[in-house]
Amino acid sequence: MAKFRLVTRKSLKRLAILAALIAIALVVAWWVMIRMPGASHRGPLPALTEAQASLATELESHVRILAGDLAARSAFAPNRLESAAAYIESTLAAVGLSPAREWFEIASPRAQCSNIVAEIRGTTFPGEIVVIGAHYDAVMSQPGADDNASGVAAVLALAKRLAPDPQERTLRFVLFANEEPPFFKTDQMGSLVHARASKARGDRVVAMLALEMLGHYDDTPGSQRYPPGLGLLYPDRADFIAFVGNVGSRALVRRAIRVFRANASFPSQGGAIPAGIPGVDFSDHWSFNKVGYKAVMITDTAHERNPHYHTRGDTPDTLDYERMARVVEGLGHVIRDLASN
Ligand SMILES: [Zn+2]
Repeated sequence: MAKFRLVTRKSLKRLAILAALIAIALVVAWWVMIRMPGASHRGPLPALTEAQASLATELESHVRILAGDLAARSAFAPNRLESAAAYIESTLAAVGLSPAREWFEIASPRAQCSNIVAEIRGTTFPGEIVVIGAHYDAVMSQPGADDNASGVAAVLALAKRLAPDPQERTLRFVLFANEEPPFFKTDQMGSLVHARASKARGDRVVAMLALEMLGHYDDTPGSQRYPPGLGLLYPDRADFIAFVGNVGSRALVRRAIRVFRANASFPSQGGAIPAGIPGVDFSDHWSFNKVGYKAVMITDTAHERNPHYHTRGDTPDTLDYERMARVVEGLGHVIRDLASN
């Protein structure tokens, strides 16, 4: 009896230690990966400024063209993909930039594809580069308004606003082909082509921002979903923009969201989360991480929120251009900060 009691006490003690260790590990994980600097905006959004209203109109116009006449812009419809590239190219040229094509050939389907690249040379540290990127292809024959005409519209609008205002570091705007399946994470993925070429040239990419779906929001309780386990740590309303990176890009994720929160009255959440968690590496930042650059994805969280994800329903009417404008304006501050040493 005495012996039995001893064993029970011993195992209870072990259980208690194990529970304490797990609790400590969870707190450390939260501290390192989830806790972000600054505070997310709470409460009603302030009235839209004139600049935000005109930005909203501009974003909507780009999305309506890309997801309208240029819907189904994919290597499976090479003419559409090329028309979208030409639209992007002419829009960048119209604001005084000199866009270049980065051509590459893919085997299946056999096609010539291109990324579109435009730089604003840095005034003080031109060899240090901040990449602002978005994929311009859509999945198969879908309109791809949120995914990812919204990200392209944001890049075009940001390039327009930054073109007359060079920063210390070089800004490189890149619109990528072939992010969508079946090209994702293959040699045919435009951002991987670009990241590898950058690495081979020895480009000093100090930060990469992947703008991946910025237009879908919902204030309904329960409208936001998460990969398993993360839902306990984040809000359940899909009313925020997310800053997501892997653990290696933690400093960049934290800097980006800190500057966003200091300058934008808009809810934001962030995480520097192991890339193995589903969704964390689901965009072009993956390519930059793969070759060793730090990168962060800015996203409305895609399939975790948008019911139209990868369907015919991903149309321009389902986007909230006013909230998008608030986000894009905030990203302008983030880019200016990252581009100053
Ligand atoms: Zn997609």
